[in-house]
This record gives sequence, structure tokens and C-alpha cells, in this order.
Amino acid sequence: MAEITLKGLAHSYVAAPRGAEDYAIREMDHVWQQGGAYALLGPSGCGKSTLLNIISGLLSPSRGEVLFDGQTVNDLPPEARNIAQVFQFPVVYDTMTVRDNLAFPLRNVGASEAHVAERVKEVAEVLELTDQLGRKAKNLTADEKQKVSMGRGLVRDDVSAILFDEPLTVIDPQLKWKLRRKLKEIHKRFAITMVYVTHDQLEASTFADKIAVMYEGQVVQFGTPSELFETPNHTFVGYFIGSPGMNFLDVAVRDGRVMAGEIPLPVSEALCAAVAEAETTNVKLGIRPEFVEVHDAPVEGGMQARVEHIQDLGTYSIIDLRLGDMPLKARIDEDQPPPGEIAYLRFPGERVGLYVDEFRVEVQA
Ligand code: ADP
Ligand code: MG
Repeated sequence: MAEITLKGLAHSYVAAPRGAEDYAIREMDHVWQQGGAYALLGPSGCGKSTLLNIISGLLSPSRGEVLFDGQTVNDLPPEARNIAQVFQFPVVYDTMTVRDNLAFPLRNVGASEAHVAERVKEVAEVLELTDQLGRKAKNLTADEKQKVSMGRGLVRDDVSAILFDEPLTVIDPQLKWKLRRKLKEIHKRFAITMVYVTHDQLEASTFADKIAVMYEGQVVQFGTPSELFETPNHTFVGYFIGSPGMNFLDVAVRDGRVMAGEIPLPVSEALCAAVAEAETTNVKLGIRPEFVEVHDAPVEGGMQARVEHIQDLGTYSIIDLRLGDMPLKARIDEDQPPPGEIAYLRFPGERVGLYVDEFRVEVQA
């Protein structure tokens, strides 16, 4: 078991990379602590698989170091790194039985047959494969094969870490939910470092204690699900986490006031000063739909907005608004009466984030 440190890591698949856009992994540092249950969350193509393959040693990074418990492993081949990896699509030996498939990683490292039998039994029970142990893998369904594939990843209890690369993609939704619970159980029982790759925020937050959000080859935030929700560090996190994502308004200071287009925003002096000081025109104010206060009559400091659409989702509604010419979403609970054609909005100071060149800057509310 190990703490995994990535130091100054960068990777390009291009022989002579020119700019940042030629890098699948852009210069990054990161630590996965021993025993954590982590998710690596990001859209397709952001570099998740590349990162896992660098950790497991299937891929050698262009620059930087991979350390296990402080020791560099860059020169170690995958076998010597003691990492189990489960891929998106099943990796099983068709001609072997389920039992032999599960036993394979253990026999490979010379485990005693008594230990093999014990672990195979245990893993098969967890994954509900006990009845299938005698069957040839080629006769299994895609779901069952992927369960075997996961079992092969879980069967060794002496690995440094287990890496899962979108392992539930081919599994049907019902079973998916169940397997994710099981993985969580297994994690609790064995305290092995687990990194679970997904592009699904729900999957990430049900599995992981801490989520690394990846965007364009970098981890832009590493935090608990509630940290990602409450204080997104990067506009991408705001937009990607939450449903719908965070609202972002382009802002600038004019005549001493923070303006979103033609609309003056009633915000704190500190925020106004921070916007004025920014050395770029890429300045955005972020607020989550949940935190936009919606009133159906004028209120002090309220900004008038047009109500374009209200979507009733049972316990809450999503309101599409237009503030000046900018679209904005708000979420209200079912017990709040929906506004008419005009709504009056307030942004509570402590719920507003300021983003300069896409990264959040701290401002006193
Ligand atoms: P993810 O797993 O997040 O979908 P990947 O790590 O697979 O992302 O890919 C990151 C980027 O690297 C993408 O732009 C992808 O096209 C590119 N890439 C991935 N694998 C290769 C490869 N073997 N050769 C060249 N480019 C690759
Ligand atoms: Mg991938």
C-alpha cells in the first residue's frame, strides 16, 4: 500500500510538442494519500486514462516523477509497481473458468493455493459470482465479464493501489449502483488506496471521499464533494459539478461599480476592489442557481430580471432568467411560490465567487 505522489508530471503524445495544447497532461503535482478512496473526474479527453497509465507504468511520462511512498518508480515496469488496474472493457481469459481468472493475479505472484482459494471465495461472494466460478469466461455476459475483470483487480490484498478506469461503463444502471456500493465496502474493509476514474459526478461523489477534477490535462481542484460544490476553484468545476452548473457573468468595473453588461451588481466594496485590480478582462462573477435569491416583488438591492421559463421538477423548480441580456438560472424549492414574468434577484455576498482568468480569487464578503 502506498502514497502516490506525482511531481512535475507532464505528458505529450506528440514527438515535438510546441504549446500547452500538445500535452495530454500539463505540468502537474498531486498526492494520493495512502488508503484514500478517490475519484478522478473530468470530461472525455481531459487526460484521465493517460494519468492512470502513467501511475501504473503502462506509459512513461515525458517529464516528471511518479513516487510511491517517496521512492521514484519511473524506471519500474508495471509488474514491479504492484498496482492493480481495471479497465473500461473486460480483460478476461476466455478459455479459463471464472475461478481461474480470479486466481490468476494471485498465482502470478506465487500465492499459496490456500490463500488463492480463500481470496477467490471472498471476492466472488462480494461480486456475486459464486455460482459462476466453474463456468468458462467465454460463456459469460458482458456484465459478468466485467465483474470478473473487477474481481481480478480486487483479488490481491497486497497491492499499492487499485486504479479503476471507468469500470462500470458496460454495466447496466441497476447493477452499476450495487457494484459501486460494493467497491466502497471493499475499500472500507481493506483500506487500499483506490483511484476511480469517471466522467459522471454522481458516480464520483458516491464512491469517493475526495474528488480530483481534471480539465485539459490538469487537476484543477482536489476536494470533498461539498467543497467542490460550495467553493469551486475554477470555472470548469463550477460548471461541471452541480445540476445545473454554476452561473458565470462577465463583469468589469465602470464608474466605481461592478457591471455585468449594462447591469450594475450590488456587491461588496471588497469585491469591487478585487475586480478593479484584476490585470485581465477575463473576470467573472459566479453564483450557483441554488443561491440566487428569487423574489416576486421588488426588494432592497434586488435586480430586475425577466423570467423566461420555469421547469417544475417536483421538489424544486429551475427558473431560466435573463438579467439584461445575460442568461441566468435559479433553483427554488417547491414551497416557494414561483415568480411571474418579472423576478427580483439578490446574490448573497457569501455565495458569490470571483473568477479571474477562470480561477477563483478570495474576496471578503
Ligand atoms: P480521458 O481518459 O480523460 O478520456 P485520455 O487520457 O484518453 O483522456 O486522452 C487525453 C488526450 O490524449 C486526448 O486528447 C486523446 O486524444 C489523447 N491521446 C490519448 N491516447 C493517445 C495515444 N495513444 N496517442 C495519441 N494521443 C492520445
Ligand atoms: Mg479514458
